[in-house]
Amino acid sequence: MNDSIKLLPDHVANQIAAGEVVQRPASVVKELLENAIDAESTSMTLIVKDSGKTLIQVIDDGKGMTTTDARMAFERHATSKISSAEDLFDLHTKGFRGEALASIAAVSHVELKTKRAEEETGTKILIEGSEVKAQNPCVSPSGTSIGVKNLFYNIPARRNFLKSDQVEQRHIIDEFQRVALAHPDVAFKLIHNGNELFQLPKNNARQRIVGIMGKKINENLVPLQEETDLIKISGFVTKPSYAKRSRGEQFFFVNNRFIKNSYLHHAIIQAFEGLLKPKTHPSYFIYLDIDPKSIDINIHPTKTEIKFEDEYGIYAILRSAVKHSLGQFNVSPVLDFDRDKSLDTDYRTEKSNAKLPKVEVDRNFNPFQDQPKSRKATSQFQHQNQYSTWETLYSGLTEDIENSEDFQFESKIQPDQLFDDTEHQQHTFQLMRKYIVSSSSSGLILVNQHRAHERILYEQFLSQITQEAGHSQQLMFPLSLELSSDEVDLLESLSESLELTGFMFDFSKSEDGVVNINGIPSMLIESQIYEVIDELIADFKAGIPDSGFDRNNRLSMIMAKNMAIANGKSLKTEEQQDIINALFSCKEPSVSPTNQPVFVHMDENAIDKIFRT
Ligand code: ADP
Ligand code: MG
Repeated sequence: MNDSIKLLPDHVANQIAAGEVVQRPASVVKELLENAIDAESTSMTLIVKDSGKTLIQVIDDGKGMTTTDARMAFERHATSKISSAEDLFDLHTKGFRGEALASIAAVSHVELKTKRAEEETGTKILIEGSEVKAQNPCVSPSGTSIGVKNLFYNIPARRNFLKSDQVEQRHIIDEFQRVALAHPDVAFKLIHNGNELFQLPKNNARQRIVGIMGKKINENLVPLQEETDLIKISGFVTKPSYAKRSRGEQFFFVNNRFIKNSYLHHAIIQAFEGLLKPKTHPSYFIYLDIDPKSIDINIHPTKTEIKFEDEYGIYAILRSAVKHSLGQFNVSPVLDFDRDKSLDTDYRTEKSNAKLPKVEVDRNFNPFQDQPKSRKATSQFQHQNQYSTWETLYSGLTEDIENSEDFQFESKIQPDQLFDDTEHQQHTFQLMRKYIVSSSSSGLILVNQHRAHERILYEQFLSQITQEAGHSQQLMFPLSLELSSDEVDLLESLSESLELTGFMFDFSKSEDGVVNINGIPSMLIESQIYEVIDELIADFKAGIPDSGFDRNNRLSMIMAKNMAIANGKSLKTEEQQDIINALFSCKEPSVSPTNQPVFVHMDENAIDKIFRT
């Protein structure tokens, strides 16, 4: 019998290895950017076409490669970064497996141009599916340019498996941002389909974060600093008030490498305990410096997970550092009973012009009198004085506020625009400010008020968008949103549908990350705008369904969810009845847009059954 075991040809082995390293265009972006960082570049440009499906190119000003190295770089396990297994435990570079370029070249067309500073000419190499097609000397600036074209051209299954351009673009931007945040001292540029999405000069960490996330974040950053024998921590968390619905802006960097770590994430969330609104997430940008010998990066092929030798220790240090910063920068709330009420601003004076404080001199003060005694007397006097005026300070305050024209209590703002005022004969009442109980012709209906309203709004929005019949309320003062440049792009791509619901945007200032809103859907309350837009962006960033219908569907769902009356809100009888009426004119009253039950119905039989003995 013939022996049947054969060694796989190199290009096949490379293609198989490529499956692990190159999952999508964003993986190529990550490998190329990291190689440029390892080559000590001070500036790099990422050029992408069609979300990386047509072209991904990184141009750097790093140390470049000699002709031999340029050729070697595409061999599997070819790396200049480690030479022995021990080196694995003392890594100071991003790469070390020597697989990336070989894998990329196995599944694409690669054009490499590279030159070392000390050499006159550079080298140009063309490779297609692991095969070297050409290698020539060339004129080139110092540094390296690698262009990856037609990714997965020879693996149609992979190519077809890629998501929509928007999703792939999102992944690319994510990888770009991670590398750029990890290296504020390096200049970065990202150009997609000819548009410059990011232009980040060499900078400090704070400026880099602002450059990527948008100006709004600046005043919300709380710095963090801690140094122990074990670890050095620096970076920023954001103020609790800036917390977002999405978990997007959370970054850990260990020795300037982006990592994910749910355990350390938990340490931060713990430090925020009690400071966040439910379902919101703080942003953070945490840089950890630790001896490479005490971590193991090699446990995951794409290297975003690492293992720490002393995870418990790091957890404790991180949590206390975050807590400390939140406290120090006065963003934790002061406990009420510790607060000196006399320091609080009186509502009535808040809007009036501030009066200059008077300097009061104790004219009877005699420095030659027996000091301790007189001091005691004064403080006792002040004490009494305080008690005698305390009540007068607050008396009449509530009346004043209620009578004042420019002060409106939240409970006085009625959702009138949501309901009209027609009379109804139905009998309804509210239970636990959460459920509406109503009689029906055959029994009793118990309705979840939030879900019911969500269903009603959802159908309204969807029909407005599809019939292009949304009503807009023009804002007297346009609101401006400060967003990052990719968020502006995203909003712009959604604006057509959003405008059908009544939004009016002005993107003319979008260059500086500012979008003005001139009009909003007539049902939306101005104070909800930021929340709705924030959630819209977060949701769509996570992946946009492609067909127009799905998109309008999502849009209507998100807006309905945010604008529906909350559980816990007390409703007047007419409001309860309006909800019931509107709900039962819906196409699908029984489930919420996210398929949760909206009401239960008990008919006579069911009720009788309860009392049957
Ligand atoms: P690794 O990064 O794990 O070493 P790669 O396949 O990514 O493996 O790269 C192989 C080698 O090619 C690197 O070790 C490095 O010597 C060289 N190289 C790759 N990209 C660049 C670059 N932009 N500038 C200089 N050298 C590079
Ligand atoms: Mg590499």
